[in-house]
This record gives sequence, structure tokens and C-alpha cells, in this order.
Amino acid sequence: MNRVSILGVQFDPITRQEAVSRAMTQIREGKRGYVVTPNSEIVYMARSDAKLKQLLNAAVLVLPDGIGIVHAAKILKKPLKEKVAGIEFAASLIEEMAKEGRGLFLFGAKPGVAEQAAENLKQRYPGLVITGCRNGYFKDDAEAIRDINAAGHSDVILVCLGAPKQEFFMEQHFNELDGTLLCGLGGSLDVYAGVVERAPDFYVNHGLEWFYRLKKEPWRAKRMTALPKFLLTVIKSKITGGNK
Ligand code: UDP
Repeated sequence: MNRVSILGVQFDPITRQEAVSRAMTQIREGKRGYVVTPNSEIVYMARSDAKLKQLLNAAVLVLPDGIGIVHAAKILKKPLKEKVAGIEFAASLIEEMAKEGRGLFLFGAKPGVAEQAAENLKQRYPGLVITGCRNGYFKDDAEAIRDINAAGHSDVILVCLGAPKQEFFMEQHFNELDGTLLCGLGGSLDVYAGVVERAPDFYVNHGLEWFYRLKKEPWRAKRMTALPKFLLTVIKSKITGGNK
């Protein structure tokens, strides 16, 4: 299916379940690739960063993380099927991986967080194989790559360094990492570990997750001004025909 362009970032118009089944097919066939889940902040950033835009578009799956992207697609009259939050996509993918005893490596977050996330995920999804864990703080990339590959082959490596650091890392080291699918997932390990709470369902279902996070983590306010700027840019691009 044709991708939907939002300010030049090409999103896959698919549901979470469709994304998971495509990812599982890649895993079973051993076809390598990386998955990105850009939100409006990253798309806004990619407007003026050609390299970032190009590497997002080179992903095997580009999933619309956040209600801002879904609104933008509506404004542009090229609706996406649904919001596919990275963390929810990964949870469904892990559930499927567990059924087949697939191997998952957890990379990112502060020391100890990935290990705690691994414990919680193993309990929740028996059958899942955790190939290893590595925190997201390192002096040079080679050191992290060595640690990840020491675990042997992983069907999926979650790369959770925050955006856009994780996207650059996945693209730059794609050929060096021993994993079939690499997924850039921001702060997900903190949530799986129980270090950071996800917004309650009410906020998620009403597209108000950003508001909940703003209440809990007010220091995000500056980053969040990206959302209205992003939507205004989308509206302008529609008027001027500049949404390439
Ligand atoms: N992080 C990391 N290495 C770094 C910087 C950040 O592992 O050099 C981790 C950080 O500990 C956190 C995640 O990356 O777990 C970023 O989470 P955040 O929610 O800020 O990212 P977003 O999902 O907004 O991209």
C-alpha cells in the first residue's frame, strides 16, 4: 500500500495488527530491517534535516506514533488507518514473538532498567527469550555494538535511546548489529520496567496522552510546543502544496 507523506516523512497506512504481522513475516524470513515510530516532534525536526528524513523513509515500517500525525493526515485528506504507538506495537510484537520462542535484545535506558524490563516481560509473556540487555549510556558506539553482538543473534533488538539518537544509531550501525529487526522505541524500556507510568486509558483513548505527560513531566513543555508548530506547518503545506 502506498505510504502517506506527512511533510516528507512517508508513513505506512496500516493498523497495529497489520504492522505486527508484517514484522513477524520479516522475522520468520530473516529479512533484515529497522522500524521507526516518528511522532510530530520528529517529523517537524526532519523538515530541516534531510539526513534524518531520508533515514526515516528507509525504514521497513514507518509507524505513526502520536495523535498529531493522525490529525495531520486527516488535514491532508490522506487518512492513516490508526495511531500506532511504538510501545503498543512492540508489546503486540513481543506477544507474538513469545508464541514462537523468538529472541529479543533490550538496548537502552539507565543501568538496571533493561534488566527489570526483561524480568517483567518474561513474566508477562512466557516463552519469550531475552537474549540480553545493555544500558543506553556508552562512550563509543563500538563498545555498545560489541556488547549487543556478544549475546549472539537476536530476532529483534529494541533500540531505546530516545529520538532521534536511536534512529541515527540504527541506520549507522545497521550492518554491524546481529539482529533481524531493529526497533527504535524511545522511553519504552522505562515503561516496561515500571520506572515510568504510561498515561491511564482515558488519556490514551482521547488523544490526551501528551496532556498527561505534561502534567507529570512539566519539563517536557518546551518540547511539546512542537505539536502546534507542526500542525500549523501541515496546514500551510496543504495551502501551498508544499507537503512533499
Ligand atoms: N537514553 C539512553 N541513552 C542516552 C539518552 C537517553 O539510553 O544517551 C534513554 C533514556 O534513559 C530513556 C530514553 O532513552 O529511557 C528516552 O526516553 P524519552 O521518553 O525521553 O524518549 P522519547 O520516547 O520521547 O524519544
